[in-house]
Amino acid sequence: MPLYSYHCKSCSDEFEQLVGSGETPTCPKCQSTDLARMLGSIAPMGKMKGFINEGRAQAAKEGHFSNYSKSELKGKL
Ligand SMILES: [Zn+2]
Repeated sequence: MPLYSYHCKSCSDEFEQLVGSGETPTCPKCQSTDLARMLGSIAPMGKMKGFINEGRAQAAKEGHFSNYSKSELKGKL
């Protein structure tokens, strides 16, 4: 499940949320779904980055690459 950063358009809160496919994120403060996803800022760095890399390594071991982007797949296959 990817972790995304969101900016709430209703109350201007910024937060990170794990969002599965088909799920709609909601603002933890005002429950609004009027959110802007902030691309390129998958945060927090460090702890979360290690967690994501771990998940990817595990996925690669298991032989599926759904966590990889197309450009990354090119190098793997
Ligand atoms: Zn809000």
